[in-house]
Amino acid sequence: MPNPNQIVFFDTTLRDGEQSPGCTMHHEEKLRMAHQIAALGVDVLEAGFAIASDGDFAAVQAIAREVRGTRIASLARCKREDIEAAARAVEPAPSNRIHVFLASSDLHLEYKLRITREQALEQAAESVRLACTYSNDVEFSTEDGTRTDHEFLIKMVTVAVQAGATTINIPDTVGYTTPAEYKALFELVRARVPGIENIIFSTHCHNDLGMAVANSLAGIEGGARQVECTINGIGERAGNAALEEIAAALMVRRDKFPYTNQIKMDQLYPTSQMLAEVISFGCSPNKAVVGANAFAHESGIHQHGMMANPLTYEIMTPASVGAGNTNLVLGKHSGRRALADRLEKLGHPLDRNQLDEVYTRFTELADRKKSIYDQDLIGLLQPAKTAAVATVS
Ligand code: MN
Repeated sequence: MPNPNQIVFFDTTLRDGEQSPGCTMHHEEKLRMAHQIAALGVDVLEAGFAIASDGDFAAVQAIAREVRGTRIASLARCKREDIEAAARAVEPAPSNRIHVFLASSDLHLEYKLRITREQALEQAAESVRLACTYSNDVEFSTEDGTRTDHEFLIKMVTVAVQAGATTINIPDTVGYTTPAEYKALFELVRARVPGIENIIFSTHCHNDLGMAVANSLAGIEGGARQVECTINGIGERAGNAALEEIAAALMVRRDKFPYTNQIKMDQLYPTSQMLAEVISFGCSPNKAVVGANAFAHESGIHQHGMMANPLTYEIMTPASVGAGNTNLVLGKHSGRRALADRLEKLGHPLDRNQLDEVYTRFTELADRKKSIYDQDLIGLLQPAKTAAVATVS
């Protein structure tokens, strides 16, 4: 029986993430990331799409051989050769999963697959049954689920559950849904599909409208207990739901989401940094949780608050996500207190008059320069310190 109070983290950085522009990884890089993602504590690691290429197959198989402490999954279309390739690739892992998907929306069935709804139901059932002969853990995804006719979606999920799927994912493949709509969709499907006692429902959200994380959390409210996500939110187009943001939301708002999970929070930042090294881009400085500015403060009012009590402007500590210390950035918006505090830490306590003098020079410099480093501050100090020495002598 799945634990109804636990959120299962399903990481697809190496599949949905890797297949997007600029995110291609070599074999060794995939292995390095897979070890780190396992150390992060994800429950399921989707290592790739085994049938896609020989390279993908080899990567999934190597990860299944080497990486422990997490379940290794491969994606497969509803085709015999896909399922057999996925099964062979994940077979070395002591716990593995075959993730079978089929589009469910009329748009995809008609224009992409050119099959009828009845054919889709047959293919889904047949493929899940075949996958079940290779693994005791089979996930079924209704691709483009959020744009699927509700009655047909219920039929397709019912068929997959009857065929033996144990996880049912209803993806928002194109990033189209809204939180309230997605929550209601899970409630509807869970109310209407028979025999779901042992089934875990899953979210899979894309960020085309900037709602991937909000939608994932809404899915949890609707009864989903698995979230599919990626490190730094990489993935097709605007990306997938960001793992670190979902994990942080569950941690900070435990009052709203009273569930447990296995994520090792202090591994979030190191994992994000490793991914940025491996692919061709990092995340933007203002990215939630792991961006360079996520715990940085420049304005005087905020810096004053932070020095008095960090809770004034931070809802979590940087250390809690493995990101080191808060960074009080000195710039043109900073006040006297932050300047005095930094200079004291650098070994130069100033009296009131000295501080007034140095602060005036500091604001002049800050108007001209975007980043102010410690050596700049020491430079500002010279006349004031010299004057102080002169007075003493
Ligand atoms: Mn996707």
